[in-house]
Amino acid sequence: MNTKRSNNSFLLIIIVLCFGAFYLSRIFGDGSDSYSYREFLNAAKDKQVQSLTVKQNKEVPTGTLEVRLKDDSYKTCNVSDVDEVIKELRDKYPDVYKVTKLEGIDRSADIISNVLQFVLIGGMIVFVLVMMSRQNGGGGKMADFGKSRAKLANPNGKKVTFGDVAGLDEEKEELAEVVEFLKAPAKFTSIGARIPKGVLLVGPPGTGKTLIAKAVAGEADVPFFSISGSDFVEMFVGVGAARVRDLFAEAKKNSPCIIFIDEIDAVARRRGSGLGGGHDEREQTLNQMLVEMDGFGVNEGIIMIAATNRVDILDPAILRPGRFDRKVGVGRPDVKGREEILKIHVKDKPLGDDVDLKEIARTTSGFVGADLENLMNESAIHAARENRAYIVKEDIDKSFIKVGIGTEKKSRVVPESERRITAYHEAGHAILFHVLPDQGPVYTVSIIPTGVGAAGYTMPLPENDNVFNTKNKMLHNIMVSLGGRIAEEIIFDDITTGASQDIKQVTAVARSMVTKYGMSDNLGLINYDSGESDEVFLGKEIGQNRPYGEVIATAIDEEVKIIVDDCYKKAKSLIQENIDVLHKCATLLLEKERINQQEFEALFTETVEE
Ligand code: ADP
Ligand code: MG
Ligand code: ZN
Repeated sequence: MNTKRSNNSFLLIIIVLCFGAFYLSRIFGDGSDSYSYREFLNAAKDKQVQSLTVKQNKEVPTGTLEVRLKDDSYKTCNVSDVDEVIKELRDKYPDVYKVTKLEGIDRSADIISNVLQFVLIGGMIVFVLVMMSRQNGGGGKMADFGKSRAKLANPNGKKVTFGDVAGLDEEKEELAEVVEFLKAPAKFTSIGARIPKGVLLVGPPGTGKTLIAKAVAGEADVPFFSISGSDFVEMFVGVGAARVRDLFAEAKKNSPCIIFIDEIDAVARRRGSGLGGGHDEREQTLNQMLVEMDGFGVNEGIIMIAATNRVDILDPAILRPGRFDRKVGVGRPDVKGREEILKIHVKDKPLGDDVDLKEIARTTSGFVGADLENLMNESAIHAARENRAYIVKEDIDKSFIKVGIGTEKKSRVVPESERRITAYHEAGHAILFHVLPDQGPVYTVSIIPTGVGAAGYTMPLPENDNVFNTKNKMLHNIMVSLGGRIAEEIIFDDITTGASQDIKQVTAVARSMVTKYGMSDNLGLINYDSGESDEVFLGKEIGQNRPYGEVIATAIDEEVKIIVDDCYKKAKSLIQENIDVLHKCATLLLEKERINQQEFEALFTETVEE
């Protein structure tokens, strides 16, 4: 029903556009081919002109020449000064043409009548379409712009289930609770359990967020309303908000159900951000959404699922309790996950015996589900073009170039040597994280390319905001940052450029210790910090306005170097003490690509036991 309505308004827009184009061409072009004045003169010279009518616009010297050629075709030609042209024609071609000068054509009257016609006919079309949609049972409201545009997934279509989603085991586990609630809300409401209203899926594009949201609906066997955040953002103020109202009204009628909002960042961007205002519409839409979310009871059987890859730009209001209070990260798949995804996407594609999915999984680090699906699809197309009924390795190799490297994909095939370096680099960070006392536990270590430049990452548990940083903490922070580089050095006897971000971090921390916090022995408790970061922001040179001279500048640099060198030595010896763990950790990373806290910490206990 909804789809039909949006089809109608789509049709309407096309018709209106066609009429618009037609009338505009009538207003400005008279429906005939136009000539430049030069072309006209050439035609005149060649004696091609049969007759000529000159029309002068009212009260201006400009006008139009209407030319009938000898072959009976008809041209118009706009000229800037009609009298001038007539004089020229009389002089050059005295008696060839009959020149009829029609004084004072009022073009504005012309335009107005055309516009009137256009509006009348357009209005009629709208009227007819509205009547039509009424007959189709389409709600019958004037103009469909305020309609939600939400698509209700076809209930007769094939249901997506968790079985269609590969790899995302933890994510599925977290969402299983939502499924249970949708299946039997009464069970939960009777004992007063509070079920999340909103679940926010966060992850890079193509990792299966839409898929897993659909699977939740499929598993629970409830309607699935999906809409994209960008559908809410319209030119006209108030339309987005009306759509939100409509969407929730529709959902309430169909509860229990799921409302899925894709690309929620398009509407739920931090309010008040953006330059020069002009975001009223979006803010109004967002406010309406918050109002609606707060408006329905906790246990009304509607669960909202939203997806984004930019959680950092979301308005904090949307993440508050009672709104999207549950966040589920949907990450890039590791080797095992990729193999499972591949298995799903080759289900109906026969494979030759030289195709090894494990091998493909191993060489596609950084690929997301959508990339892998694309890869297998391209391979199948390639096989079909070769008139083969099954996919062979060569098809896949060829498709690789197309989906992985050929396009501007963020992900690409990472060579084994690079993976090894990354594995040792991240293992170096992770070990220091673990052994240094005031750096929290290591939550994840990964060598899956992030797609935004980093080859891997080592992540501590999300820390509570500590207002105070101690000197030791800062020193340890520097050591952890150096760990990656040091591990590379020890193992490969060579270093890469991959550590530049780490080195930036090291320098920044060390500098602020010296210039801001008075933590160096030689320079003491003086603030040498001139708020440089603000100046950099304004495009000024660093140090341009520094409140100290060359001597102090040199002393600062020396102090920074002393701190970093000292940290480096300590960090290196710590890693060397744990060299067994370093090797084990890197090996495990190469095998699994991503390891969690338990797996990482087990490496230490094993070492002790030996
Ligand atoms: P997102 O919404 O995160 O951008 P989608 O859910 O739209 O990603 O995924 C696009 C396609 O990629 C899916 O339709 C599916 O074919 C494939 N895909 C992605 N992730 C997975 C997965 N974990 N398991 C199986 N297929 C996947
Ligand atoms: Mg999606
Ligand atoms: Zn690093």
